[in-house]
Amino acid sequence: MAARKSSCNCGNLRVTYEGPDPERVSLCQCYECQKRTGSVFSVQARLPIEHVTIEGPSKTWTFPSDSEKPVAFRSCDSGGATYHFCPECGSTVYWEIPFAPDFYGVAIGGFIDPTFPPPMISGFEAYGAAWAMNASGLPMEHHDYDGTSKGGSRA
Ligand SMILES: [Zn+2]
Ligand SMILES: [Zn+2]
Repeated sequence: MAARKSSCNCGNLRVTYEGPDPERVSLCQCYECQKRTGSVFSVQARLPIEHVTIEGPSKTWTFPSDSEKPVAFRSCDSGGATYHFCPECGSTVYWEIPFAPDFYGVAIGGFIDPTFPPPMISGFEAYGAAWAMNASGLPMEHHDYDGTSKGGSRA
């Protein structure tokens, strides 16, 4: 099977996945995921670490578990998680999950791959913007800022 390749924005921190389609792809609107991504929801896959190759430097930040302080807001990682992000550009690329130690969490946006399997789990919907799950229905002007398309056709 073809390798799936993810990276941070600057390309220094890279994840290569050579394995079956992930069994878990989730979308999450918890407060931690919103803050981590800077967006209104996150989308991530759990990938078996035996099929993952990591290249490049990372810095880490560990979200504390609910048994520690401070946990000031609701998180899907209430058991804690250690996030690996690029020390140069700051993109969070993957993370360690204490309660699922055989997997890495990997942000699927890093793959820039429209064929990546879609989420089959949606979490913490009550914590997100009400419009987030129906954004395509908003009365927005559809526009790619580089002018390559207008009106929603896919690149
Ligand atoms: Zn980077
Ligand atoms: Zn979350």
